[in-house]
Amino acid sequence: MGNCLVCHEELASSYGWGDLLGLSKSDPICVSCDNAFQKICGKLCRICGREWDEVPVENHHGDICFDCHRWESETETADLFKMNRSVFSYNEHMKEVFALYKFRGDAILAQAFHKHFRETYEKYFKKEQLTLVPIPLGAERLYERGFNQSLLLAGLLAPLKVDEPLNKKDSVKQSKKVRRDRLQQENFFYVTEPQMVSGENVLLIDDIYTTGTTIRMAAKVLKKAGARDISSLTLIRS
Ligand SMILES: [Zn+2]
Ligand SMILES: [Zn+2]
Repeated sequence: MGNCLVCHEELASSYGWGDLLGLSKSDPICVSCDNAFQKICGKLCRICGREWDEVPVENHHGDICFDCHRWESETETADLFKMNRSVFSYNEHMKEVFALYKFRGDAILAQAFHKHFRETYEKYFKKEQLTLVPIPLGAERLYERGFNQSLLLAGLLAPLKVDEPLNKKDSVKQSKKVRRDRLQQENFFYVTEPQMVSGENVLLIDDIYTTGTTIRMAAKVLKKAGARDISSLTLIRS
């Protein structure tokens, strides 16, 4: 049966008729690791997908949160982006697993998110005809890490086709700059294959939605290339 991808405990064998018939794949993580992930559910901010209960009342602006309200009130970013939906909250367990996944290059861990990632996709995006576009890494980062974690996540939605019209310039790390500076500076993304997105509704795939800056930078160049509605599906809402 193999071992849990997260804690490496041996997985209990639980073959059922479904497995024999090839109907279901057993999860590659154990029940307790799976239960320690906190799935996002209930009422959400209409745009960023944050759990509404986590948004302080003074930050409610109709059905969106303060951050989204700010994005929507700036001319540069108003109406640029339709909505983000994320699968998990960034709880302590996820922080550990995410570090393994992203920073230690443990690409196989993407499989641990398979079931939940697909479920969230099906819940919010299945009805639409969407072009899946992973957020790219710059060439240097890709070389360091060996894989693009967003491309792996997009691959979990197979057999849906994944397009890669976007590229990213290598640059200094963004995390220390404040939000306003980031959008006013040069956009790191550029589109090399506009025909992939022209006239299409795009679903961006990324690992984490924090401030929404990355997604909006990508959305901006995609819109310029002729994309219609742009949404995103991310593994984590931090
Ligand atoms: Zn485990
Ligand atoms: Zn929001």
